[in-house]
Amino acid sequence: MTEAMPRMLRRVSDGQGRSRQRDVGMSELGGHCDRQLALKLLQLDAVNHGPKLAALRGTGLHTVLEEAMRGDPRWLVEAAVAYGGIRGHVDLFDLRTGTVWDHKLMSKAKIKRLVEHGPSRAHRWQLHLYGAGLLAAGHTVNRVGLLAWPLDGHDEDSRAWGEPFDVNVADEALAHHDRVARAVADGGPRSVPMLAGPLCRWCPYWVRGSDDTDTTCGGNPQ
Ligand code: SF4
Repeated sequence: MTEAMPRMLRRVSDGQGRSRQRDVGMSELGGHCDRQLALKLLQLDAVNHGPKLAALRGTGLHTVLEEAMRGDPRWLVEAAVAYGGIRGHVDLFDLRTGTVWDHKLMSKAKIKRLVEHGPSRAHRWQLHLYGAGLLAAGHTVNRVGLLAWPLDGHDEDSRAWGEPFDVNVADEALAHHDRVARAVADGGPRSVPMLAGPLCRWCPYWVRGSDDTDTTCGGNPQ
């Protein structure tokens, strides 16, 4: 049975809307590797299914938090938004304060980094794109933030991080998307720089040793 367990996780994960989505979403523009974004823009099927457990834990937490907040008129839950042709779903929008919130399940070490240094580019772009989408839909947006829940800790280790909403950050993300899309149109994905490293293991296009740089990537997960 042990060897069947990863397949069980993959079956659950593959059945979920977000993992079936082929369009580039708001959470994917600022990732560490532009080659991955280039391949994603071609709407290729994933060839690497990587570890699923961490993503499923995140989905489980999102689901229970979503259910808890739904029905309260103060909050918009899982609102569908679009900005510059990129789509996303906002975990939580506080209509009273005009604050966008996104849930992230992360280790205590990452939460400490978040509090001390702010979020990654990907998370920051994602939040401001959500804000821009809500603004385009007619809402007043004042702030964006992350609700960081500890994977390896307890309730009291949870932290919130936030900053004022700035539509220029969303436009910076769109400009990056357009730059990579132009490069793919001109020279294919191989013309876009890759940044290989441990995260390749989770890349949907990673194939160990692959030299097909048009649909996959050999990466370097170590
Ligand atoms: S395998 Fe690694 S280097 Fe290649 S596209 Fe994916 S993340 Fe980038």
